[in-house]
Amino acid sequence: MAEMNQAGKDLLFSFQNRWQEADNARRQEIMDFSEGYKRALDKGKTEREFVDFSIAALKKAGFEPLDSKEKLQPGDKVYVNVRERGLVASVIGSADPLDGFNLIGAHIDSPRLDLKPNPLYEKADLALFKTHYYGGIKKYQWAAMPLSLHGVLHKADGTVVQICIGEDADDPVFCVTDLLPHLGKQQMERKAEEIIKGEELNILIGGIPFPDKDTENRFKLGVLQILHDKYQIVEKDFITAEIQAVPAYAARDVGLDRSFVGGYAQDDRVSAYTALRAIMDMETAGRTALMILYDKEEVGSMGNTGAESDLYFNIQNEIFAKQAGYEPGFRDYQMNLANSLVLSSDVTNAYDPTFEFVSDAQNSSYAGRGIAFSKYVGVRGKGSTSDASSEYFSAVIRLMDEHEIAWQAGEMGAVDEGGGGTVAVLQAEKGMEVIDCGVPVLSMHSCFEVTSKLDIYETYRANKIFFEHMKMPVKA
Ligand code: MN
Ligand code: MN
Repeated sequence: MAEMNQAGKDLLFSFQNRWQEADNARRQEIMDFSEGYKRALDKGKTEREFVDFSIAALKKAGFEPLDSKEKLQPGDKVYVNVRERGLVASVIGSADPLDGFNLIGAHIDSPRLDLKPNPLYEKADLALFKTHYYGGIKKYQWAAMPLSLHGVLHKADGTVVQICIGEDADDPVFCVTDLLPHLGKQQMERKAEEIIKGEELNILIGGIPFPDKDTENRFKLGVLQILHDKYQIVEKDFITAEIQAVPAYAARDVGLDRSFVGGYAQDDRVSAYTALRAIMDMETAGRTALMILYDKEEVGSMGNTGAESDLYFNIQNEIFAKQAGYEPGFRDYQMNLANSLVLSSDVTNAYDPTFEFVSDAQNSSYAGRGIAFSKYVGVRGKGSTSDASSEYFSAVIRLMDEHEIAWQAGEMGAVDEGGGGTVAVLQAEKGMEVIDCGVPVLSMHSCFEVTSKLDIYETYRANKIFFEHMKMPVKA
C-alpha cells in the first residue's frame, strides 16, 4: 500500500492521549493544580461543606455578597449562598447584559448514605444507625468501608450544631458491616443489586452500654450520652437533621507516575472545583461570568436547591438588573437568557478496558485525552437530553482549539446500554445555548472515583477560557 500523503492525513481525525505533549513546565502545573483539588475534595465532602469551602475561597479572592451591592459595575465580583447547599458566583463583564452571560454549572451533591430521621437503634449489644441511601449507588460498595459522619442538627432552641467525625487521624470512623464469606452462601446467591440490601446499610456506631443496669436501651443510651456530652444534642434532634455518611479517607494520587487522583465525590466536585478556580482566576471579563453550583442533581435536581428551582434564574435576573442600571422588562430578561451560553459541567464515563462491553470505543471519552464534550447524553434514543446545536458546539470547539485546550468528544456508553441526564436540559428550557462537558471518571459513583490529572487541569483551563472569551458570532 502506498504511504499516505499529507493531504490524505489531513482528511483523518482521531483523539489522542495528551500527556506526551505536556512539557515539564506543564506537567508541574498539572501536578500543582491537583494538590489544591485534593485538598478541596477532603474539605468539601458534602454540599454544605463545599459551599463553605468555596465561599471562604471567593471572599479571599475579593468576592462580596450580591446583597451588599446596589449596582454592579464591570469588574465587580459577587456571590450568593443558596440556602447553604448551592452557590452562585459572578464576575461582572463590560458587555451589554442583553447579550447574555457565560455560565458554567456543576453540582456539589454526591451519592452517600443519609441517616434516617429516626436512625438510632440497638440490637445484640451493638448500637447502629439506620440509613437511606442518596443517589445511584452499588450498595455492596458501601459495606466494610470506613465512613465518616458529616452534617447539621438544629436543637430545640434553634441553634445549629455542625458535626464532622471521622476525618481527623485521631477520630473514630464508622462502617456498614458485611457477612463473612464462610457464611456467605445465601447472600452470594442474591442478585448483585441485593448483595447488601437498602435496609442492610446499617452503620455501626457504638458498643459500650450505659452504666445504669436497670435501664432499657443501654447501648443506644451509651451513644446518646456521648453525643450529649460533646454536642448537647438529644435523640429528638435527629428527626430534623441532615447527616451524611461518606467514605472517611482523604483523596490520594493513583499510579506510580501519580497521573490520577483517586477519591470520593469527584462527581461532580471536579467540575465544581475547576469552575470555582476558573472564575477566581479570570483576567478579563467581556460577558458577565456566572458560576452555579447546584444541589440535588443526584436525585433529579428537584427542590429549592436543585437546578430545577427558579431561585437560580432569579439570581441571574437580579445580577442582570443590578448590572443594567435600569429596571429590565420581561422581554429583557428573556433576551439575557436566550443569549446566555452554558457549559453544563458534569463528569462522564472514562472508557474502561476491563468493561469495554458497555462502550463504543470510537465514541467514548478516555482518561488523559482532556476535557470531554458530549453533544447530548440521555437514554433510549437520546431521551430526555439537551442536544447541543452544531452551531454552538463548533463555536465552543473553535475557542478551545484557538487556546490549545486538550479536548475530546464522546458519548457516555454504547447505544441502549443505559445513560444518564444532566442539568443541561434545565438551562436549555430557558432558551440558553448549552453543551455538556466534563472530566472522564473511572469507577464513577463508587467510594473511590478516579480521574486523570491532565483532564482536571485542562477542564480548569477550558472553564477559564470560556468565562473570559466565549461568545457566539450570531445572537438570538
Ligand atoms: Mn454528576
Ligand atoms: Mn452522578
